[in-house]
Amino acid sequence: MKFSVKEKMVIAASGFIVIGLIAYYVVNGIGIKMERTPHETSGLFAMGSVISQKLYGSHSEVEMDAVANEAFTAVKELEGLISWQSESSDIGRLNKAEGEAVSFNKKSYELLKQNLAVARKSSGAFDPTILPVVKLWGFDPPHAQDSSFSYHVPKIDDIHSTLALVDYHKVITDDAAQAVRLGAGQSIDLGGSGKGAACDAAVEVYRKNAGISGGMIVVGGSSIGLMGEKPEGKSWDIAIRDPRGTGAGDNLAIIQLKNCFVSTSGDYEKFFAEGSDYYHHIINPRTGWPSKSGIISATVVCSNGALSDMLSTACVVLGKDAALELLKEAAAEAVLADDAKNLYITQGLKSGFSLINESYTINYVQ
Ligand code: ADP
Ligand code: MG
Repeated sequence: MKFSVKEKMVIAASGFIVIGLIAYYVVNGIGIKMERTPHETSGLFAMGSVISQKLYGSHSEVEMDAVANEAFTAVKELEGLISWQSESSDIGRLNKAEGEAVSFNKKSYELLKQNLAVARKSSGAFDPTILPVVKLWGFDPPHAQDSSFSYHVPKIDDIHSTLALVDYHKVITDDAAQAVRLGAGQSIDLGGSGKGAACDAAVEVYRKNAGISGGMIVVGGSSIGLMGEKPEGKSWDIAIRDPRGTGAGDNLAIIQLKNCFVSTSGDYEKFFAEGSDYYHHIINPRTGWPSKSGIISATVVCSNGALSDMLSTACVVLGKDAALELLKEAAAEAVLADDAKNLYITQGLKSGFSLINESYTINYVQ
């Protein structure tokens, strides 16, 4: 087959266009891929939970890895200060001090003060001195991980005598000495804020790095820290688990969020059934029994991780009306689910909310 000069020029030009297009898509395709695929780390363990991180930005893979490591180290350092299971942590030393004052590190002192502030604001629905009662039910971590141990309903007398130890008013703090003293027989667990505080620690590291445009840390699935946004200004899709679903992955809804902290507490995390009764790990400090407020899951969004973690627990204890009051006072947003499949969603989450399980009824609230 012979081509005229004109035909040869057209073929050559088409060739250049095809090569040009391939080159364009190779360069830009890879460019887009590099920007859009996050640097991911998972499988690390801290705060009794699996930790995973996703980072976006202009950093190289090596630099991203260094940031993820630095964030994980910050979480481990915090754990070393607040874990009540470690005798040498600030909380471990405090719980053994038999009423003597114990000096704290700045970070653990601030977190403890934040716990006491939420205890006051929630009228004691959240109380970091609840540990002896949590232990009585077997919901503390050593028992939860010990397959030979089973959760059980304690003796009523034991609940009453142990409940007498639960009172955040008896925790005395001394700002000048950065020291803490407990009342007789008391012990403290900052676990109700630990996962959220871990998110704060990681996000602080992300924020220090100009090469990170978006970062996400997930601690045990129940607390999440979000720094910035995803590429092209996109939000993060955060799934809320169906509290009466078949398990993780069976979701109730998705909320779209940027630059904030999210924590969920629910009566499905640790529980057991005896006869027709259902017992779970969120304890009402007034009664010493698992809360029965009607709210079975609370997802709280705000600008601080530890606060979101504590508020989500408080909301489950308080029930809808008191929870909404507390959230307003704390400038936090929430999705509350009750045991009759009603959802109460605060205005700030309305625009990014999509329902997955349509058997729930949506109510938007102030
Ligand atoms: P997660 O451990 O996933 O963050 P929650 O936010 O629901 O779960 O916190 C529940 C934990 O907090 C319990 O396992 C218990 O140690 C502690 N806790 C239970 N009830 C209270 C309460 N009323 N106030 C403070 N802490 C509580
Ligand atoms: Mg929590």
